[in-house]
Amino acid sequence: MKVAVFMTLLLLNTGINSWHVVIYAFEGTDVRGFVSLAARIQEIVGLPVVLGERKLHVPARAFDFHRKQYRAEVIAQELVRVKKSHQLVLGIANVDMYVEDLNFVFGLALPSAGVAVVATPRLYPEFYGASSDQALFEERLLKECVHELGHLLGLSHCPDVKCVMHFSNSLKDTDVKTPFFCKSCREKLKSLRIF
Ligand SMILES: [Zn+2]
Ligand SMILES: [Zn+2]
Repeated sequence: MKVAVFMTLLLLNTGINSWHVVIYAFEGTDVRGFVSLAARIQEIVGLPVVLGERKLHVPARAFDFHRKQYRAEVIAQELVRVKKSHQLVLGIANVDMYVEDLNFVFGLALPSAGVAVVATPRLYPEFYGASSDQALFEERLLKECVHELGHLLGLSHCPDVKCVMHFSNSLKDTDVKTPFFCKSCREKLKSLRIF
């Protein structure tokens, strides 16, 4: 099963002209589990998912010296530079990100550009003083990735706390929601799809 998934990923990476998702890891991001992450996203979102071969750098200009955090928009813009046609690009970076008026963000999507970023530091149990748990981390990462891709596909936030499109104000919200779209979001997705 695992081999089959990996083969699919490899085959798809050799030049595709239909819509697909490319995941890029920024330098300093632990990519363990990314093959299964890609496979699970593919299953949930229903689009082919490939892992980008290039390691991207978080631009120094994204760092805010006052807040000691990174501007999510600036990091997302880096993805615009590598994005090709028929791609939705998702970047994963192990730096704490924020946007104006929020203390931090787990991720940011720029739907008009077709790119999104997910920040991993606050998804680790260690960040909150708990002991390390790779499986829990990977589950949280999956939810945040599917959430941002949902935005790229045209979905907005959903009131259903179990739906992956529910807004995560804190990690508790992320832990309560599932990695799946609720029935209503699934129906909206069908009508919103441009491909
Ligand atoms: Zn959101
Ligand atoms: Zn929903």
